[in-house]
Amino acid sequence: MNDDCTRRSFLTALCVIPTMLLARAAGNDSTADRAHRIHFSSIVLDTHDDTPLRFFSKTYDLGKRNPDGHIDIPRMREGGLNAIFFSVYLFDEHVMGSPAVQKALDQIDAIHENVRKYSNDLVLCRTADEIRHAHARGKIAVLIGIEGGQMIGNDLGVLRLFGDLGVRYITLAHAANNEWADSSNDKPVHNGLTDFGKDIVREMNRRGILVDISHVTDKTFYDTLEVSKAPLIASHSSCRAISNHPRNMTDQMIRDLAAKGGVIQITYEKTFLDQAYREAYDRVLGNVFTGTGDIAKVCGEDIDCYSRENLKMEARLTKEGKLPIVRWEKIIEHIDHVVKLVGPDHVGLGSDFDGASMPDGMEDCSKLPKITEALVGRGYDESVIRKILGGNLLRVMEQNERVSREMQVTEHQSDRS
Ligand SMILES: [Zn+2]
Repeated sequence: MNDDCTRRSFLTALCVIPTMLLARAAGNDSTADRAHRIHFSSIVLDTHDDTPLRFFSKTYDLGKRNPDGHIDIPRMREGGLNAIFFSVYLFDEHVMGSPAVQKALDQIDAIHENVRKYSNDLVLCRTADEIRHAHARGKIAVLIGIEGGQMIGNDLGVLRLFGDLGVRYITLAHAANNEWADSSNDKPVHNGLTDFGKDIVREMNRRGILVDISHVTDKTFYDTLEVSKAPLIASHSSCRAISNHPRNMTDQMIRDLAAKGGVIQITYEKTFLDQAYREAYDRVLGNVFTGTGDIAKVCGEDIDCYSRENLKMEARLTKEGKLPIVRWEKIIEHIDHVVKLVGPDHVGLGSDFDGASMPDGMEDCSKLPKITEALVGRGYDESVIRKILGGNLLRVMEQNERVSREMQVTEHQSDRS
């Protein structure tokens, strides 16, 4: 081979290699571009974000990019998260009665105040139509959920007032039983839902407030499913078939939820996503609800301190090999499981951002486009992806709104007769 020939071959190679690289890049780009287009033109709705307690922190600002936590407006914009349920919850599960009502009111007010302060970006929404309208105007739709029925103080009047203040779902029980519903993290005392609990569900139906069955026992779920006239939501639960945790739903529960039009919003908490992690966590720390007891002693109700110390502890245990790494793709596995089980109309996103330990690669809400990219990569149709990102939850909201209207029309007619 003479030098000329060598030079020609070398030049040919120089031409061919970039062409190949360009072709591969173009191939990748078309998937990435498609995912980007779908994601950033969809309503991306997350039904569970524990951010409200951060509103009381001196160092946290919803309007600025924060160095910690999972949610703020800049990162929501970056991740295309344009509809969010801020979940009101109590740091101490056992606060009941009037003090619980007061704490809920404080957080509801803080949500309203943040929406007012950042009204260029945020708008408070109560209905599926209002969310669509907000999206059309480029605004982030803010909704309010209450995580723990004890916050109504056993009073249907308070429940109605919460509805008037914009509360759009109530999780019947949180991590402890209340006086009318059993929690999956507690020893059952009511055998599900009491008669008063059933009245509460009916009143929620009447007011168009979504009934959330995350956190309750299986029996409470089935009692609720039987009494509710409207489809239920699990605002942040995953699949027990993949991670056997009582906070997750069995395949049969998912089938029964779906048969009545409900939706399971997949949560990203690592113990709920991954069986090996869950077992290791239980071995090392007890369980996800009690395992951070020492941190609670140090931090009290300082939520930022709590998250910081929790992250440090997890990093240390992972480095020591005591906790396995959980990758963000596990979220896709759970979504896929539900789709295979009951079709694409009954699954959505309920991260538990700012309230849970996130898997590697889903460090905060700015990483959400990865979910769409993974679904595109798995061959999901655009229309199905839009349903998972938010459409399914909007449908359930509409069904709840319709049931509420029908119940009120019936009442009105019987009042006149
Ligand atoms: Zn929760």
